[in-house]
Amino acid sequence: MYLWGHMKDNKITNVALIAHDGKKAEMVSFILQNESQIKNLNLWATGTTGQHIARSGFNVRPLLSGPLGGDAQIATLVATGKIDMVIFFRDPLGKHPHEPDVQMLMRLCDVHDVPLVTNRAGANLFISAIR
Ligand code: PGA
Repeated sequence: MYLWGHMKDNKITNVALIAHDGKKAEMVSFILQNESQIKNLNLWATGTTGQHIARSGFNVRPLLSGPLGGDAQIATLVATGKIDMVIFFRDPLGKHPHEPDVQMLMRLCDVHDVPLVTNRAGANLFISAIR
């Protein structure tokens, strides 16, 4: 999958998946619907999102649960060049104790020019780009 020119090897390989609780079902539906593209990626995920992804039959590297530091771990991976793309299904109607970590993750995506989508429509565009 060759996409954005700013990347080291111009390739999307390592993708982080995160879904707030209200969006986990949508994340599972998204990965199942796009299984053939998603299976070619190295997936990383926050803890509970990762459990859902693994139960759906995908290989994933699980990190800590979001409220326990998982988003912060993904932010670190973004800052150190280990993540090429972040798909984060945020629930705009919920309150999240780890909102500061979420803001940090999004800021570091912008600092390091790492593609970030925060809803299904954006994720669908990403899939069409790598199809
Ligand atoms: P979770 O974390 O996958 O562990 O639920 C996601 C989040 O709320 O940031």
